[in-house]
Amino acid sequence: MATPVGHSLAGYAIYRVLVPSQDRRPALLLFAAAMATAPDLDFLPGILTGAPATYHQGLSHSLAFGVIAGVSGAVMLRTVASTTTRLDFVLGFLCYTSHLVLDFFGPDTRPPYGIPLFWPFSDSTFLSPVPLLLGVSHAGHTSASTGEWLNAILTPYNVAALGWEILLISPFVLLARRLRA
Ligand SMILES: [Zn+2]
Repeated sequence: MATPVGHSLAGYAIYRVLVPSQDRRPALLLFAAAMATAPDLDFLPGILTGAPATYHQGLSHSLAFGVIAGVSGAVMLRTVASTTTRLDFVLGFLCYTSHLVLDFFGPDTRPPYGIPLFWPFSDSTFLSPVPLLLGVSHAGHTSASTGEWLNAILTPYNVAALGWEILLISPFVLLARRLRA
C-alpha cells in the first residue's frame, strides 16, 4: 500500500487532467483527494474493534467498490457541496481506481497478498511481481493491536517510503499540470 500522501497526489494529478480550469473548485479537489484515499477507510472497522489491519485491503480494494464509491461520492458531492460537474462520477471512480493501481504496485507483507480487484466475480488477489513503491510498513500480523499498529507505522522506513512516493508520483503531477495548463 501507498501512504495517504501518495494517494492524494495521484488524485490531484487526475483532477488536474480531468477538470477544465473553469470548473475547478476546492470542493472538487477535496473530493478527488478523498476518493483517492477512500479505500483505506477499511482501517476504521478494525480500529473500532482494536485490531486495525483486520479488514484492510479487502473488498474496498476492488473495482466494484470503486463504482459504488464513485456513484455515492458523486451524489454526496451534489448534495453536500452543491458542486456539480459532468465528470463527477468519472473523477471519483478514476481517483478511487488510482488507489488500487498504487496498491497493486506496492509490496504486501501479509496474506492474502494483493488486492481483490475483481470481487465479487473472483476472490483472487492481484499484486505486481515487481513492487515499484516501498509500501507502508505495518505490524506483521493482522491481529496487531492499535498500539502495535501505530508503533509499526511511525518508523524511518515509512518516512523513506513517503519520500520515494513523492519522487515517483510528482512527474505525473507535473505532466498533468502541463497538459491542462
Ligand atoms: Zn489501500
